[in-house]
Amino acid sequence: MIKEVYDLVLVGTSFASSFFLKKYLEKAPPTARVLVLERGEMLPHSKRLAHAREQQYGLNTFISSLSNHNPTFDNTQSTKPWIFDPNFGGSSNCWTGCTPRFMPNDFQLYSVYGVGADWPFNYNAIEPYYCEAEEVMQISGPEVTPYPMSKAYPLPPHMLSTTDRLIQQQYGELYISQPTARASKATGKRGACCTTAICHLCPVSAKFTIENTMMQLYQDPRVILQYGSQVFALDTEGNKVKGVLYTQRGVEKTAYGEVVAIGANALFNGHILRNSGDSSPLAGKGLSEQVGLYGYFYLDGLDNIGGSSTITANGFMLYDGAHRRERAACIIENHNDPFIRNEKGRWRQIMKMKFVFEDLPDNKNEVVSSEANKLIPVARYQRHSDYAQRGIDYLRQNVEKLFPFLPVEKVEIDEFIQPTEAHILGTARMSKNPAQGVVDDKLCHHQFRNLFVLGGSAFPALSPANPSLTIAALSLRSADLSF
Ligand SMILES: Cc1cc2nc3c(=O)[nH]c(=O)nc-3n(C[C@H](O)[C@H](O)[C@H](O)COP(=O)(O)OP(=O)(O)OC[C@H]3O[C@@H](n4cnc5c(N)ncnc54)[C@H](O)[C@@H]3O)c2cc1C
Repeated sequence: MIKEVYDLVLVGTSFASSFFLKKYLEKAPPTARVLVLERGEMLPHSKRLAHAREQQYGLNTFISSLSNHNPTFDNTQSTKPWIFDPNFGGSSNCWTGCTPRFMPNDFQLYSVYGVGADWPFNYNAIEPYYCEAEEVMQISGPEVTPYPMSKAYPLPPHMLSTTDRLIQQQYGELYISQPTARASKATGKRGACCTTAICHLCPVSAKFTIENTMMQLYQDPRVILQYGSQVFALDTEGNKVKGVLYTQRGVEKTAYGEVVAIGANALFNGHILRNSGDSSPLAGKGLSEQVGLYGYFYLDGLDNIGGSSTITANGFMLYDGAHRRERAACIIENHNDPFIRNEKGRWRQIMKMKFVFEDLPDNKNEVVSSEANKLIPVARYQRHSDYAQRGIDYLRQNVEKLFPFLPVEKVEIDEFIQPTEAHILGTARMSKNPAQGVVDDKLCHHQFRNLFVLGGSAFPALSPANPSLTIAALSLRSADLSF
């Protein structure tokens, strides 16, 4: 039998893989042949909605269904869930759609503040790809932002709430309408955000998903999409990857490629590398994410109302600055999902904010292979860093000073941090030097020069901001500069 060798074997169909595929196809000749391996199935939005109606599926039920009964990996720490959707489009199906850019100093954390690590390139090197990813996702956002933008957001910003407007008057560009993939007005394929806060399964398809915007990539005649195909290792020879090993309906197979790109998220990217005997010192290490907690501000006589999306604003007041030498940066989200103050006549006199802190990847937190089952990675996570904790401690001690201009009569900050921010990062970090990472600035493996490891696994420093826009921009950049 003649062995078929594809020009590209691509693993996964979510942000990391789809944005890479988009740019790859723009550059590839009409004769190119691409095989995409997706472990899950196609669960269309319409089917998910019908199922949700039957199940009365709320966000908490949904998150617990993803975290408690997820048979795709073993977790040595049950209090630390890692949640994702292992099907076509991955977690683009269930994400909330928050898309602030990273700040310029996130890319040079070590050079500027002496902590963590630098990215191997600066903000300017990714900026055009931010613009392109924002165009594809039709991001809604404000005119003025704390980070430089060479192009305006494609859609107008969402409406602010009452408290947002007062806070913005004081903090200016450090407090903005949240940049988001929840459309502020209807586009060709998507409705306008309905503000019902059921974003994990948007009822009106206002939120960007791979299915509602990038499906045509997988219908390109050059592309074969194969479902139910779980990749577990790479077939390597010397410094080259020949192909990927995968199972389909219990049968082990190999797919061969001139180029291989894995975009299976940081849990599985790290696992595939480890299963393949990757000798990079950091393969699988540094599993991490941001750390978040909620605060409730009780208002005296001020009704908080309005806003046209579930999270109305992002605050950057505790984000960048000299404090990052000592403690983590924090991004603030003003939450507009339905909640009330439990006090007659004062139902709306409350503001709910989430404070999300960056963390520093720690090699003790890692994903490893299981001796019992090569298909199941094991996530070993101990705790977030002291650096992140100092950020949280500072917030607890100083939160009263944040909004002296609002009639705040009481502030409550949750005792507990949220179990997860639903971001999975850091098991194949980027570096200039092979001794300090797994992939180079184009996400190309330092040793296997025809292997790309896509997605948040490559983040050398995390930033407090949500990662998916940056994951998309990174994949565009990687394919643009490599083909
Ligand atoms: C409830 C929730 C809310 C979120 N909200 C936000 C938000 O507001 N903003 C934000 O920036 N981020 C958010 N995220 C995170 C965001 O969804 C992820 O950062 C993003 O999906 C990562 O994209 P990815 O392509 O790297 O991985 P994934 O989305 O995890 O996709 C991985 C893909 O690879 C496939 N795959 C996995 N393993 C294998 C294998 N072994 N073989 C073959 N295929 C495989 C999967 O089926 C999937 O198609 C949220 C996540 C969740 C769960």
